[in-house]
Amino acid sequence: MLKDTLLKLLTIPGPSGFEGACADYIEGEVKPFVDETHRDVLGNLVCVKKGAPGGKRILLTAHMDEIGFIVTAIEDSGFLRVAAIGGVSPALTQASHVVLSSGAQGVLFLEDGADKPSLFIDIGASSKEEAEAKAQIGDWAVVRGVVSDMGSRLAAPYMDDRSGCAVLMETLRRLEKTDNEIIAVFTTQEEVGLRGATTAGYAADPDLAVALDVTHAKDFPSSRKSAYVVSRLGQGAAIKIMDRGLIAHPDVVAALEQAARDADVPWQREILLGGSTDGAAIHKSRGGVPTGVISIPCRYVHAPCEMVDLRDLEGAVRILLKLL
Ligand SMILES: [Zn+2]
Repeated sequence: MLKDTLLKLLTIPGPSGFEGACADYIEGEVKPFVDETHRDVLGNLVCVKKGAPGGKRILLTAHMDEIGFIVTAIEDSGFLRVAAIGGVSPALTQASHVVLSSGAQGVLFLEDGADKPSLFIDIGASSKEEAEAKAQIGDWAVVRGVVSDMGSRLAAPYMDDRSGCAVLMETLRRLEKTDNEIIAVFTTQEEVGLRGATTAGYAADPDLAVALDVTHAKDFPSSRKSAYVVSRLGQGAAIKIMDRGLIAHPDVVAALEQAARDADVPWQREILLGGSTDGAAIHKSRGGVPTGVISIPCRYVHAPCEMVDLRDLEGAVRILLKLL
């Protein structure tokens, strides 16, 4: 179920600000397992499972958006100039197949000889007029998904953070009665600055929050002789201690580690020196929210071949079910 959900999520494009189709799919799937769903102004999909008196309000988030591109200009030659939506690495993304919001297909390539790496899209048009028939300024583009299925490991673009969405969906499916009120938010615009989580965190006003996102697994061949690899693929969900935007609340870290022990699943501690998650916005909401993060170890983050291990996703679900 978890694998099928993830594979389906990988087929739905949704760069930051354009997550509607992804939200439609998730809402249809989780509706039977929650008491209510709604979208807020920023497009966050909010799913609430009611609790009992005396229970806590627990906010769980996973972001729906993925990095992508937006058309900024159409050249006389028919090439499209694009800007990045989110933390795109030209070196990792160039030479990819892309699809535009207009439905046009093309390839993304790096400008030849430029001082600063700059990407363009070739949609097969040989003039401005031809290009304008297929695309316009403001159209978005994303890398077209090819999935490599290696059994328990899968590689595809946008495991960040569709793997977190899959974990959250599966948790809602399996969650039985709890006294706690569960507010599961599939957030928007994380990749451009945690924008959806900022409003969702404020609106939810929770007693406790846990964000679900990928983290780097730099356990692949490297010329750097450092023991620091952030996390290791297949060694269990990672419980965040710190990243650039959050020092996880010690009580939440302790609760997550206890939940992992209770669930009898492997887990690892994570410190990420660059990057952050929805948790960075949520923990500063209102008077402050005790916040932690469960991270899915992921190799090649923000490349079109992000790799996760389904056993780590399954572990994350089991940890959450014990926590809730
Ligand atoms: Zn992410």
